[in-house]
Amino acid sequence: MTDPAAQVALGCRVLAANGHTDMVWGHLSQRDPDGRDVWLKGAGYGYQEVTPDRVVRIDRDGRRLAGTGRVHLEFPIHTEIMAVRPDVGAVVHSHAEAAVVFAATGLPLLPIGHEGTLFQPPDVARFTETGDLIHTRDLGERLAAALGDRNAVLLHRHGLVTVGPDVPTAVLTAIFLEKACRMQLAAAATGADYSWSDPAEALAKRDRCYGPRQLADAWDHLVRTLPS
Ligand SMILES: [Zn+2]
Repeated sequence: MTDPAAQVALGCRVLAANGHTDMVWGHLSQRDPDGRDVWLKGAGYGYQEVTPDRVVRIDRDGRRLAGTGRVHLEFPIHTEIMAVRPDVGAVVHSHAEAAVVFAATGLPLLPIGHEGTLFQPPDVARFTETGDLIHTRDLGERLAAALGDRNAVLLHRHGLVTVGPDVPTAVLTAIFLEKACRMQLAAAATGADYSWSDPAEALAKRDRCYGPRQLADAWDHLVRTLPS
């Protein structure tokens, strides 16, 4: 099995190369193979700077159990989602600009290309209670409730959260969500009417475009083409 710290570090570098950097902010986690603890990117480093020794193991209260880095204030995003979603093995949080701008428009996210079909129908989940940091267990629980059983939630006035059974899926989902937001913003900015897949087409494409084989190929491609 891949070392969790190494897998988190690799996922962070893929996020950095694909539109999710915000200086030292944003984080990625993987559930520990024992199912209880979480391996989380350490604070103070940008996504592109993360190495396995800059990943910390924490418990649900944010206590550091392994590693030497500082723990991100927003650790409850990861611990509280994993507490209520046993199917989730990895969580991404970023401040991707297109996601923040898109959320501020109030538009429903529409599948104008392939990527949007992962999130619609129904419309992508939203967390609108606060744009502040998710820095308490209570806020983490409320964010997890907003996510529900979905794969992503837009945090209005803040950023995005995506989840998956593993780091590759959660990271790819974040990349696809940012791209879907960015493309719809571009379409809306033309001022022209634009079109999108109806629900039946979107659901068919979701399975055909993003099955396990396609996701594995996409992940391998992103890893192979990482900047050295
Ligand atoms: Zn944040």
